Amino acid sequence: MATDRRTAIFPGSFDPFTLGHMDVLQSALKLFDKIYVAVGYNHLKQGFLSPQTRVRLIEDAVRPLVEAGSDIEVLSYTGLTVDLCREKGTDFIVRGLRTTTDFELESVIAQANRKMCPDTVTVFIPASHVYSFISSTVVRDVIVNGGDAAPFLPANISISDYIKV
Ligand code: ADP
Repeated sequence: MATDRRTAIFPGSFDPFTLGHMDVLQSALKLFDKIYVAVGYNHLKQGFLSPQTRVRLIEDAVRPLVEAGSDIEVLSYTGLTVDLCREKGTDFIVRGLRTTTDFELESVIAQANRKMCPDTVTVFIPASHVYSFISSTVVRDVIVNGGDAAPFLPANISISDYIKV
């Protein structure tokens, strides 16, 4: 599936999108002309933030990059990431790696995706040591316990605009 412009999907729960995700996205933009940041959700699994809110927060977070010329599209999807790849006409999936545990989980998912769709290539981007300790789980815990999650989040997003804790 060769096209002139290299595009990739960066899928995740992004519940919420953190500085760690932002760092992976910025690295991915060095490799690809366009990135689809894809909020994956499951109808049966209630998240912390709704998929729509997650999309809006990511749009806020990436606005400075878009204004500076980066081609980023934020969307939500349900179902298989390989189906989203087919829909968007890309073979590339970007994922971030923090730990060996991430690697073990991610390599299994990458192999399953490749089995389902042989053209799929998963590109792993190592976490920056500055952000590798950040996870959406920690951010959610900080927020629900009344702490300040700002140090873990992109500068221009405000989760308190969207949730009442
Ligand atoms: P999922 O539920 O699909 O794992 P997440 O939103 O937790 O979705 O993570 C999306 C991707 O971002 C995953 O590849 C994850 O390993 C990566 N990631 C999460 N936090 C960080 C971080 N601090 N640094 C680098 N990559 C990260």
